[in-house]
Amino acid sequence: MNMHPEAPINEAERLARVRELRALEETADHVLDHIVHMATQCFDVPMAMVSIVDEHRQWFLARIGVTVVETPRERSFCSEAIKGTTLFEVIDADRDERFESHPMVVGPPGIRFYAAMPLTTTDGLVLGALCIIDTQRRPPLTLRQASALAMLAKLVMIRIVNLRTQNYVDQPSGLLNRSRLEQDARILATAGKRARLVVIDALAPSYYDEVVRGIGLEFVGDLILSITVRLQGVVPPDLALYRVSPTRFAFLLPDETDPAPLCEDILACFETPVGTERIPVHTQVGIGVLPVGPQELIETDWLRAAIATADETRERGHGWRYHDPSRDHIQLRAVQVLNSLCEAVYGQDQLRLHYQPRIDLHTGACTSVEALLRWQHPTLGTISPGEFIPLAEKTALMRPLSLWVMEQAMRQVADWEAAGLHLRVAMNVSAIDLDSPQFAERMHTLLDRFGLDPRCFELEFTESALMRHPELVRTQLQRIRDAGVEVSIDDFGTGYSNWTYLRALPADTVKLDQSFMRDLSQPREQRLVRTIIDLSLELGYRVVAEGIETPDVLEQMRAWGCHEGQGYLFARPMPPASVPQWLSARG
Ligand code: C2E
Ligand code: MG
Ligand code: MG
Repeated sequence: MNMHPEAPINEAERLARVRELRALEETADHVLDHIVHMATQCFDVPMAMVSIVDEHRQWFLARIGVTVVETPRERSFCSEAIKGTTLFEVIDADRDERFESHPMVVGPPGIRFYAAMPLTTTDGLVLGALCIIDTQRRPPLTLRQASALAMLAKLVMIRIVNLRTQNYVDQPSGLLNRSRLEQDARILATAGKRARLVVIDALAPSYYDEVVRGIGLEFVGDLILSITVRLQGVVPPDLALYRVSPTRFAFLLPDETDPAPLCEDILACFETPVGTERIPVHTQVGIGVLPVGPQELIETDWLRAAIATADETRERGHGWRYHDPSRDHIQLRAVQVLNSLCEAVYGQDQLRLHYQPRIDLHTGACTSVEALLRWQHPTLGTISPGEFIPLAEKTALMRPLSLWVMEQAMRQVADWEAAGLHLRVAMNVSAIDLDSPQFAERMHTLLDRFGLDPRCFELEFTESALMRHPELVRTQLQRIRDAGVEVSIDDFGTGYSNWTYLRALPADTVKLDQSFMRDLSQPREQRLVRTIIDLSLELGYRVVAEGIETPDVLEQMRAWGCHEGQGYLFARPMPPASVPQWLSARG
């Protein structure tokens, strides 16, 4: 009988490695099952198992003849076996002072013989043991038998490594995956070490999706591989590279290393296109750096924080940035808002529409009103559409939200009509509303249901919405206009529209963005606004000036030929009940 008096070497690192295996705990593996079966046949024993010795328990990756799936680590045979790296045998368990009072020796199954071969990683950590158990007395294993058990234990380790690889390797990059990064960061934290997590956001996710849709998955595979190779060319080979999402890569940089030169190198290596020779692709790289240590890994949503930093850095073209914890509050608020959005959309009482009049600048008459969403959140208070619409647009909730607005707005027009008030209502529409024909169909159904003249209704789109899928948008807009509903381009002049494209767009009206009204004292601004108005008029659009706050601006807009205006000077957005009063007060 050999003895292993010491505790397992490197217990902390050993446990970290054991923790990585927990992902395998739930699923049975046929190969390991075969190995333990072979062990019972080969050694003629009723019980055999692959035991993993965890912090407080041993659990079984495969077992035969044993009904329980885990037992306490304390006083277990396997916890003794893993104190060394060679064969561990207990010949007469009932006469061995370490085990004679063990419940499985004294009671069922009545263990008499136990032999185990430690399961050792290539770097010498013992994760558990392949063990065979007999309830009969028997002599020690012969040399041949011992080496057979050692061979089986080797097979078990090969299988464990394979299983882990399946779980931790990303395809097609061949890099480690996000689960593995999370594990490795935890191991680092357990060891009390600090590091800097560097996340590289290589492509805008929307662009990635377009490539998937437009060029296909095979090319995307090549693209990811070429990004991987680029990264491997600059990131030192001793740092593990991870792919944490389709377009994002990461590594952990030791705390003492300055991230700046490496980040600069990474940015520089993406200055030339990636992809294939036939289809070169320009990346838009952003890098986020987040210091991580035991504290951060427990307290913060660290990976999300690093990813958000990288994303933002990419979007703003800032190259690389350290994570700014104050941004977390913004992120947190966004999550809160998003979480409550569903209830608001499908609930009854949180959302309302306010209406802001649009005035004919020459007659002074109110031509129409714009429906603007208002959200009264039960705990967060009033949330402005400028905050929640962009968030909703990232979710599947934007479409139902727009449909809700459409129905409310039409019902309002119908109510006003019934009260003898003839007003056109304009609603704001998001880019994704145009992605399916559902929106236009619903509009027709509702116009019918409320018995409305389509000319009572107007849709406002921003330039960016129109640029998304130009062809699809054009057909949808054409259908909408053919039905008699007016279409206007909102926030006009802030996008990147080219005039040739705009000229071909089926729209009736442009609404000059309110930012133009702010700085009209500068001659340069004046020239710019005038040019935009002139061009719009020449293209035959009806021109509406948004954000008119002062009589001077009103005068200017009138003089430059704008047809209509909207702004606080005339009225702020108001609840529907106030609209008739406001109109009659104006005469
Ligand atoms: P928008 O469509 O350009 O609406 C005009 C915004 O300017 C409104 O802000 C309005 O209250 C504000 N405004 C009007 N006159 C003045 C003025 O004289 N001075 C200033 N400083 N502001 C003025 P609001 O209601 O906060 O809406 C912001 C944006 O949210 C809207 O811009 C629109 O893009 C979006 N939005 C609002 N309701 C909806 C909706 O039902 N659906 C969609 N998709 N977007 C909406
Ligand atoms: Mg609008
Ligand atoms: Mg606007």
